[in-house]
Amino acid sequence: MTAPADGLVSLLLAGAVLALGAMLLRQLGQRRQLQRWLADPGQNEIPEGSGAWRDIFSLLQRWRKEDQRARKLLGGNLDRFHQAAQALPDGVILLDPEGHIVWLNRAAGEHFGLDPARDVGTVIGQLVRQSGFHELYAAFRAGETVKPVVMETAGSEPRRVLSLSLLSFADTGILLLSRDITEISRAEAVRRDFIANVSHELRTPLTVICGFLEHLTAGDAAAEASVKGSLALMAGQARRMNRLVEDLLTLTRLENAAEPPRDDPVDVPELLEGLLAEARALSQGRHVIELGRVDPVGLRGSSGEVQSAFGNLVSNAIRYTPDGGRVGLSWVAEGDRLVFAVADSGIGIPPEHIPRLTERFYRVDKGRSANTGGTGLGLAIVKHVLARHQGTLGIKSAVGRGSTFSACFPAERKLALDREG
Ligand code: ADP
Repeated sequence: MTAPADGLVSLLLAGAVLALGAMLLRQLGQRRQLQRWLADPGQNEIPEGSGAWRDIFSLLQRWRKEDQRARKLLGGNLDRFHQAAQALPDGVILLDPEGHIVWLNRAAGEHFGLDPARDVGTVIGQLVRQSGFHELYAAFRAGETVKPVVMETAGSEPRRVLSLSLLSFADTGILLLSRDITEISRAEAVRRDFIANVSHELRTPLTVICGFLEHLTAGDAAAEASVKGSLALMAGQARRMNRLVEDLLTLTRLENAAEPPRDDPVDVPELLEGLLAEARALSQGRHVIELGRVDPVGLRGSSGEVQSAFGNLVSNAIRYTPDGGRVGLSWVAEGDRLVFAVADSGIGIPPEHIPRLTERFYRVDKGRSANTGGTGLGLAIVKHVLARHQGTLGIKSAVGRGSTFSACFPAERKLALDREG
């Protein structure tokens, strides 16, 4: 090869090497720009690229824009959610699984006297000290199904009445909700007081009227048969009003009683003997009335209330069982329950009525209820008494075959009876 040709090749080679070097440097430069951007994508602009880099950078640019749009949307939604939660009239507190406050809205702050800046991170039990809350929280932590509890606000005057409930969310989170029910509970108290007052006012005149009517019905003054009949009718109606007034008073007394029933020992087997005698007197030989299984255990509770509840169930069984039918009473302590049951072979109850029987004045057959001296309040009284003893009412019935009403109490109310002495 000649010298000029050699020189040309070397030149070409040198040119190629230079071009390759320049290309490599550019690639390195772009790589460094990409690294810088990746290290802090929030601050730096996406670099301008060339060649294959341009596609990569414009793809990154698109992703970044989409990401920014999504973040903005999410942020906006979060803001709106936050504002909505703040505007809620109900109090909302988010708690972590250990009960630390994570977040609360304005209403919750007012209800419990909490300040988010100071109290977030504190265990709720250290800040809300009312006993109603502690019982609710303990039951919730123990995994029990909890019903809302009513509690008064502490500190701030005038006191407000709150209804509190606890819910789980997102596996381990806890939501404490508080609702101001001051107005509702005031209206409820006015209603209860009104019924109590009216019943009380009616009681005395009614007693007087009843007394006179009984006297006139029995005495000579009612010699004429038609007058005697009318007087007897009036006396019957006056007695009915008297029973109604007494039942209304019992019901309002139960509703108004703030504290739970006294933990009197109730000797249930003895009570059943008394009920049996009363039932036989009411039936006047028209039914077969028997005691079934009677376990020798007692009950902790208010003896007056328990007697009134059981008495209502027994009197219903007789009143809704045609002559010649059977009524059986039993008292069984089994497993975690104590059950007083009254089974009758009476008229039974169509299933659609069963859920409503404990409502005031709800009757399946108004005529039969009135004719047998019913007030329509018996089962409402039973329900209240049982609720105050943490008990429940069970009703099983078949039309034309009979019904069984069971008053069930939790085993904690069981009382060993000392039969000696
Ligand atoms: P009442 O005074 O009318 O008996 P209750 O509240 O005691 O009021 O009972 C509500 C209704 O439930 C009754 O009117 C009756 O229709 C029905 N009831 C209650 N006990 C029985 C029973 N043992 N058998 C059939 N029906 C019953």
